[in-house]
Amino acid sequence: LVRAAGGDSTRFYSPEMTRAAERRLRLTMNLDAAIENNEFHVVYQPVVETSTGAICAIEALLRWKHPDLGAISPAEFIPLAEETGSIVQITRWVFANVAEQIRSWRRNGIEPRRVFVNVSGQQFIRDDLPAYFRKMAEEETDLVHFIGIEITEQAAIQNMEATVQAIRDLAEIGIDAALDDFGTGYSSLSYIQRLPIRKIKLDRAFIADLPGNDRDIALVRAMIGMANGLDLPVVAEGVETAAQRDFLRGVGCSELQGYLISRPVPPDEMGELLRQSDRRRR
Ligand code: C2E
Ligand code: MG
Ligand code: MG
Ligand code: MG
Repeated sequence: LVRAAGGDSTRFYSPEMTRAAERRLRLTMNLDAAIENNEFHVVYQPVVETSTGAICAIEALLRWKHPDLGAISPAEFIPLAEETGSIVQITRWVFANVAEQIRSWRRNGIEPRRVFVNVSGQQFIRDDLPAYFRKMAEEETDLVHFIGIEITEQAAIQNMEATVQAIRDLAEIGIDAALDDFGTGYSSLSYIQRLPIRKIKLDRAFIADLPGNDRDIALVRAMIGMANGLDLPVVAEGVETAAQRDFLRGVGCSELQGYLISRPVPPDEMGELLRQSDRRRR
């Protein structure tokens, strides 16, 4: 048992709480070294056009293989990295890694799509992403056209001013922004209109019970209608069944992402999926 400062307070902690707290502490302390120790890697999930099934975009998803604890989910370690601020360095690492992957695909004759990287709200406050990409664009003109960012609706609303400014600056450089996990925040039209985003990603919570749940059907229809009104393409996340896909096609959802199409895969496999998709198109 861990003895907390102040002697007797020990008894307030159940063994489970202590174990969870110990794990958090350990992961938090190990995060900074994880970059140097090469413990991160990126996997890629294709996004397809609903009408043709062709790959039209890619999402980059971070993975952490801890030397003792094994695979740690980003849902667990990203919030810790946000707390300590190491998310800023980690995101830079992801961008550099994704840029290198795009170069590698192109060297091998594979035409990539735009690769969307998840960015925390903090990145816009504590980092100058527009400066980073401006420099990249000066050195390698067309690389930025293969890069996009995803920002959650919640993060965007929390830092409205900084987010709007950064997304505008990035758009000028040629980098698109998507609004992630849409529908889980306070999606009001006035907020969305202020954000210079290029597409909306419907959270998979709304997709999971389609097409059998009347409430979700109404919500998805309304969100797609709203996005259409703003001329924004909509990506449905977490598409797992053919019935979901068919329903989404019927209500005019433009892009699909999920296990039905492909799980997130390592870069070589993503390259193969791109080749196949292009072969079919020809
Ligand atoms: P997200 O950006 O909404 O990413 C989608 C998540 O849904 C991914 O989980 C993906 O693997 C999962 N997914 C995709 N298709 C399906 C499906 O059909 N069914 C189900 N059940 N799940 C599906 P993952 O990779 O575990 O990432 C979780 C979250 O962690 C992401 O949610 C994102 O918010 C965050 N994240 C991941 N990588 C990064 C990163 O590099 N930076 C930051 N800041 N956050 C990241
Ligand atoms: Mg995302
Ligand atoms: Mg999402
Ligand atoms: Mg999500």
